[in-house]
Amino acid sequence: MRRPFMAANWKMNKTVSEALDMATELKELVSDVEDVDMALCSPATNLYPLKNLLKDTKIALGGQNLHYKESGAFTAELSTDMLKSVGCEYAVIGHSERREIFGEDDELINLKMKRAVAEGITPILCIGEKLEEREAGKHFARVKFQLAADLSGLEAEDVEDIVLAYEPLWAIGTGETATPEQAEEIIKYIREELARMYDEETAEKVRIQYGGSVKPWNVKEIMEQPNIDGALVGGASLEAESFSKIIKFEEQ
Ligand code: PEP
Repeated sequence: MRRPFMAANWKMNKTVSEALDMATELKELVSDVEDVDMALCSPATNLYPLKNLLKDTKIALGGQNLHYKESGAFTAELSTDMLKSVGCEYAVIGHSERREIFGEDDELINLKMKRAVAEGITPILCIGEKLEEREAGKHFARVKFQLAADLSGLEAEDVEDIVLAYEPLWAIGTGETATPEQAEEIIKYIREELARMYDEETAEKVRIQYGGSVKPWNVKEIMEQPNIDGALVGGASLEAESFSKIIKFEEQ
């Protein structure tokens, strides 16, 4: 049985004091949550203070990126050791903003995936199609290509513990969500593709989130879909109240 997993992607938002205020409120609001995993993927500057604030809670931390080398002359980059030293269990890899704005390609994303897995950081690998790809009926081919390229060289035992986030680009930050049925259709396909690439058992273990304008009012229906195991949440994760409602999706 896969445990639901709700992750906040704060992107380039929140100073240290803003992050601590939100996390202080969130930890009270979700103190009774037992059966849902939760993580805050924060800008790096907030991670160490958040680690201290959240140390006795079930709220985990994640980075929003990492570098695939151990250390060295890579100005402004963060290594897996650095992320672990500030309490990160997770890291978002291959977010569409990294792909589109910063030119990250699948070859680079694959190197980051290999590094994360080897170093014990659980990657939240983002995949998904652009609007024109969906309109041309190429969305299945797009995610199939991304899975093959981004997971290349990873074995079944590496893959069973990763998290995938299906995030159609046309639904990110736009207020437009895929319908629960659209999201389920492609997430089911992603799981079937994992079974073809690895095996059924591995595919059944991988947690697959939906991301793209998830809000308190639509999360319950999304989570009712059998293959959807959680959400990667941008805008609605910035306020403790709305993110806590998403974490408590069963009560919405
Ligand atoms: C995201 O940034 O991954 C995301 C899904 O953003 P939003 O929830 O704002 O659409």
